[in-house]
This record gives sequence, C-alpha cells and structure tokens, in this order.
Amino acid sequence: MSFSSRVKAELATLPLSGRCCVTAELGAMIFGASVMTLMGNRQIRLSFRAQSAAVVKRVLRLFNAAGPAAARPRLLLREQVAGRRQYLLQLSPEDSRRLLREQGMLRADGGGTERFSAPRRVMRRNCCRRAYLRGSFLACGYLSDPRRRYRAEWLYQDQARALRLRRVLGHVGLLATVGARRGGAVVTVSGGDQVAELLKLIGASLSVLSMENSRAEKSLTGSANRAVNCDQANLGRQLEAAQAQVAFIESLSRSRGLSSLPRALEAMARLRLSRPDASLEELGALLEPPVSKSGVQHRMRALKRLAEEQDG
Ligand SMILES: [Zn+2]
Repeated sequence: MSFSSRVKAELATLPLSGRCCVTAELGAMIFGASVMTLMGNRQIRLSFRAQSAAVVKRVLRLFNAAGPAAARPRLLLREQVAGRRQYLLQLSPEDSRRLLREQGMLRADGGGTERFSAPRRVMRRNCCRRAYLRGSFLACGYLSDPRRRYRAEWLYQDQARALRLRRVLGHVGLLATVGARRGGAVVTVSGGDQVAELLKLIGASLSVLSMENSRAEKSLTGSANRAVNCDQANLGRQLEAAQAQVAFIESLSRSRGLSSLPRALEAMARLRLSRPDASLEELGALLEPPVSKSGVQHRMRALKRLAEEQDG
C-alpha cells in the first residue's frame, strides 16, 4: 500500500466531528471528486468517484450524517484503465439537489438557471477548515512517498476549484502553488515541515509519526553525507562514537533498565537514544540544565563503566 493510500485509509476511519465539519468535509469531497450530470427537466444528478472503498464508505457516512436521504445512493463499481478500480456513488436527483443546496453549492443566477459553485461557510472556523482540507485530500489528493520527497498534490477539474483550495490552505498557514496539468489544475504543497503540518491538521496522526521517522532516518543519512563532503574524518569519528554509545546504553537498558540509573545518567542515556546523530556539544546543550562537552563525556564514561560492569 502506498503512503498516500495509507494516509487516506487512516483519514477515512476517523470519527465524524460536529455537524459544521460534516458539511465542510462533504462539501470539499463533492467539490473535489464529483461529476454533475444535468438531465432533462433541469434535473441534476450528482455522482462521486473514488479509487478506494474506504473513501466511498466515508462519503456514505458523511452523507447519512448530513440528513435523511430521499433514496439510497447507488454504488457502482467500474473497472478503470490500467486495471485500477473506480467506485462511483450516485445520488438520486432529489438527494443531489438537497445536498447541493445545503452545501450552498447551487446558486440561482439571473436567468433562472442554477449554477454549481464552491461550498460556502467553510472558512469561518478552524475545525471546519481542517475538515475541508481532509475532504479535499480524500477526494482528489495525493502524497508522494516521504522517503523520496515531501509533496502533497490535489488534482482538480478546473482552476477555480484549485484556487479555492489554495485559499483554505493559506488560512491555516500553508503555502501552495497552483499549476496546470492534464487539462485540469494541480495544487501543490511541498517541504517536509509543510507536509507534516498538513497531515497533523487533517488528523492523520499515525501517518505523521511514520513520516517523522523517515525524516529522522533521512537526517541521519544527511549527517553521513556531510561527513563525506566536508569534515570527513572528524564527523565520521563522531558518528562512530555515537553508535558505540547507543550500543552500551541499549545494553544497560536491557540488563538493568534505564530508570534504575541515577537521574543525571538516565537523562543522558535517554537523550542519546533519541538523538543518535547529535554531537556531544549538542547533547550537552539539550540537557536540562545544560552541561558542557566535558560534562557530557564524563557521564558517557560513567554509563560505559556501568554497562561493562553489567556485562562482565
Ligand atoms: Zn467545524
């Protein structure tokens, strides 16, 4: 399962929040992945497409939470090109009209015809902005594998929908660009901090953790690369020493448990485990209260002695 699908699966199972957010999330989903068909008699039929069953289930839950349905939505499973499945959820004309009205997405223009427009009332509250972002990501979003790059994208049918999303992103402090792609418009948010913030905002807490882990791995690799490029010997020795420290701290942790250590040593040990790539100076600065490099060396030696006593 790709990282993007995992995030969607996590989001799809989140509990529904307040009524205001149900409206915002559903509005974003309709805006991002709906097809509106005009039938005779000015009838409108709304269909929603998705690649995953989890997302379809979420739409159904939101739809039911938004109000009583006139008819049961029809679920059609279509086989798409390249062997990928596509689900199509089709609402009755009555339900389509009710839903679009409630969302403020159907507005009469001067000539007596109704126009499909962006959902209203989603910008006012923070909870609803987050729900809107979640809905739009579930509907038409994609996340790159964080081991390769940090990028979130949404593919919309047209520029107006893309600009709408960029505005909501701007409200929560995320910078996005809008470009053209495949006859539609693509919204892009890039950078590790921005993508992590986006995941937090939309409620994908587990995915944030797994992304932060791979970021930590990357920064370790980064340190190793820097070692090659600039101060090879020095940093190489530093990383080697750090690895050795991690090893004896882990052996202490297994043999007697870190919480049995004197408090200063315990703090030192836990900090080294959480920052395997930091220099001794950096570790010292992170301690509470801060300790000099020689103070850190002193504690490391004490930890090492204890580990050796345990082993011998
Ligand atoms: Zn809300």
